[in-house]
Amino acid sequence: MIHYSCDLCGKRIRDERYTVKVEVAAATDPEHLTDADLEEDHLQQIAAELSLLDSTAEFTIPETGPKEFAFDLCSGCCQTYMKSPLGRAPVARPNFSHN
Ligand SMILES: [Zn+2]
Repeated sequence: MIHYSCDLCGKRIRDERYTVKVEVAAATDPEHLTDADLEEDHLQQIAAELSLLDSTAEFTIPETGPKEFAFDLCSGCCQTYMKSPLGRAPVARPNFSHN
């Protein structure tokens, strides 16, 4: 049996488990792509860089691509997360109701 622990509070998740998946990617507008962008040969660039190195261990790919994160949360932390997914208090809404 697989045991999960909450990525926020670190406690073992015994009941409901929630997963949060976040993808961070540069927002590019396809309409602004130039012919130069499309003609760029990335494989050629990588091959060129590789040939400059003695060992492939020294080769690091620049982090420009989309990055995905996945977290397991307990129900309590999930509630907290949904209130402020960006880790800060939500921006007050104009139509906030005063009970
Ligand atoms: Zn938790």
